[in-house]
Amino acid sequence: MKQENDRWLLTLVAGSGQHPPTDSEGAAKFVGELRSPLIAQMLPLFEPTSKMTAYRLSKNRWRHYERWKENLSGYIAMGDASCVFNPNQGQGMSVAATEAGILRKCLKQTTPELLPRRFFAEQARFQINPWRLAVCNDLRFSSVQGERTPAIRFFNWYREQLALTPDSTVQKRLAEVDSLLKPVASMFDPTIMLRVVASSLRSARRGKAAYDAEIARARFGPLPPALTPAF
Ligand SMILES: Cc1cc2nc3c(=O)[nH]c(=O)nc-3n(C[C@H](O)[C@H](O)[C@H](O)COP(=O)(O)OP(=O)(O)OC[C@H]3O[C@@H](n4cnc5c(N)ncnc54)[C@H](O)[C@@H]3O)c2cc1C
Repeated sequence: MKQENDRWLLTLVAGSGQHPPTDSEGAAKFVGELRSPLIAQMLPLFEPTSKMTAYRLSKNRWRHYERWKENLSGYIAMGDASCVFNPNQGQGMSVAATEAGILRKCLKQTTPELLPRRFFAEQARFQINPWRLAVCNDLRFSSVQGERTPAIRFFNWYREQLALTPDSTVQKRLAEVDSLLKPVASMFDPTIMLRVVASSLRSARRGKAAYDAEIARARFGPLPPALTPAF
């Protein structure tokens, strides 16, 4: 990912007990095994500015301050201090920023004594969406501990159907939900569900191979061209 001041950030992610390497040789090998050769070709053109750092805490933890019976007057917790997500989801900063907005609104509308209760309640209503996305996504992996209720199994199955639907409206909605721009419930809008069903019927008619190729094109696009030295 491009950062400021002509710098780039390289992040290697793996799961289910696999750990990406933190030495440069291992990293080069790791990116060489990706589907696209682009990053492996870019790597030799860059100069490291620091050692690679490993981060292995990937749990989700919600402290539920809104349920505390004690008087929390004078105490506010937000961002990771209130609810932390597996960083793989890439939503913690958006969540913290949105919660800052909720706090600003509550500060304007509430007395200091009532602020924590009001803020924690509003914050919890917002946290439920990113929490569901993070937890359900993690539970797709067999190595993750946690109860897989029928609702979670259905949600993960349906979300996968959306991801496999080569339809720009469906893909846009999925991206909006993942970016917290729309609530999780909007994945179940009738227009979206109809498009998913229509796409499944098309796939049954056209045969699996042709349909898989269409999905691959819709999701990944063509491979990027080889790099030129001028890059
Ligand atoms: C590896 C990794 C990758 C991530 N990638 C993404 C991503 O791509 N997109 C995204 O949205 N989110 C991402 N996140 C999550 C995101 O970084 C966090 O959710 C977000 O930073 C939380 O903000 P915060 O202010 O609650 O906590 P923090 O950013 O952790 O800030 C807390 C601050 O408090 C300071 N502090 C702690 N104790 C004390 C003390 N006793 N006295 C004074 N100061 C103290 C700490 O030094 C720190 O500066 C990632 C997290 C990790 C770990």
